[in-house]
Amino acid sequence: MHYYSTSNRELRFGLREALMKGLAPDGGLFMPAPIPILSRDQLERLQKMDLTQIAVMLSGLLFGEDIPVDKLQPLVEEAVNFDTPLVQVEEKIYALELFHGPTLAFKDVGARFLARLLGYYTREMEQDIHVLVATSGDTGSAVASGFLGVPGIRVHVLYPSGLVTPLQEKQFTTLGENISAVEVSGTFDDCQQLVKQAFMDRELLQQMTLTSANSINLARFLPQAFYYFRAWAQAPDHAKLLFAVPSGNYGNMTAGLMAREMGLPVHRFLSANNLNDIVPVYLQTAKFTPRPSVATIANAMDVGNPSNFERILDLFEHNHERITDLMEGYSYSDPGIKKIIRTVYEGTGYLCDPHGATGYQAARTYLDQHPEYTGIFLETAHPAKFRESVEEVTGKPLQVPERLAVFAERKKQSTVIKPAYRDFREYLLARV
Ligand SMILES: *Cc1c(COP(=O)(O)O)cnc(C)c1O
Repeated sequence: MHYYSTSNRELRFGLREALMKGLAPDGGLFMPAPIPILSRDQLERLQKMDLTQIAVMLSGLLFGEDIPVDKLQPLVEEAVNFDTPLVQVEEKIYALELFHGPTLAFKDVGARFLARLLGYYTREMEQDIHVLVATSGDTGSAVASGFLGVPGIRVHVLYPSGLVTPLQEKQFTTLGENISAVEVSGTFDDCQQLVKQAFMDRELLQQMTLTSANSINLARFLPQAFYYFRAWAQAPDHAKLLFAVPSGNYGNMTAGLMAREMGLPVHRFLSANNLNDIVPVYLQTAKFTPRPSVATIANAMDVGNPSNFERILDLFEHNHERITDLMEGYSYSDPGIKKIIRTVYEGTGYLCDPHGATGYQAARTYLDQHPEYTGIFLETAHPAKFRESVEEVTGKPLQVPERLAVFAERKKQSTVIKPAYRDFREYLLARV
């Protein structure tokens, strides 16, 4: 297995390098090759496994050439230490609940995996390495929690001031130890831009080792393929499956498409979006036109320039027709999302979070036209993470899980900067 750059397929790297660099030196994203394809027999065996066992098996196929299996297995077991249950919501529609990890969102899977893989490679390094992560909400908490206390690694979480929920903010600004928060007076796109610029700053890179924990890092998005297999393993026999994926930066979607490349029998992927509908517009028009993000109640999907989309284009060789043969896009306004949450809750008793709600509705709409399918939408976060908007809709107080509630009492610590690279650079250099 090697990793090539989406900007130049001849540019090849090993796992260690791809992991540490995050982004290829030419600005492209790393893609694995060749993609291992599961045999019928392997798929069969996988059907009886829980998520941890699936993760161990697939990690062996993906990373086993680079990390000896006896070292890899404990690492994976520690990273993927919870399950992703498939819950029936109504006839032929299921929620794949990805929020049973420590920070109650799917990003725990990738973040915990990356932290341990990086820890494996950095344990013998002399200098600290610095992990940069831009967050629109959930990534920051998952990465901060995943890396907390990992020796030799310091994490800097960049987030847009005032644009994440108070509880989200508390989850990455209160941990201390090796975790620092950088509060940017700008948007998520500004944060992402600052991180990108740091990676292209050769002078800075001579002074400190940087890596990224955003979903552009292959060890973030690739392990997310595991739970698509887990979903399939729990789905009813002979189901013709579609996945509806609430999407922002398209790491989750890319992971699903990779799972399919690895042999998972999936027939369709629905991109479920809020008003930041850059990809649904691409699917309709073949034109990919990034634009500034707008703030919505599904704030983890407020992305105006979805970075992993490049991986999807690469996977399908930039062929719009091949992409639309498999994918379809849907987008919903805030009032639309609230209405979905209410309708599903009143009709079925299932409480969606604002992101999962878009996935549910995309699946519902598609199934109305194509009743032969079984729809699985990814419930990407626990509704309590978006308590304010969910309670407004249901009119009922929501039970906040203890592991989330404890953060409300803790004290926030952050460094405020302007969305200017000069300021971010200065912040970083002060921490070498
Ligand atoms: C990050 C996030 C998304 C979007 O996932 P991408 O991989 O960036 O497309 C959706 N829902 C929730 C709750 C998230 O935290």
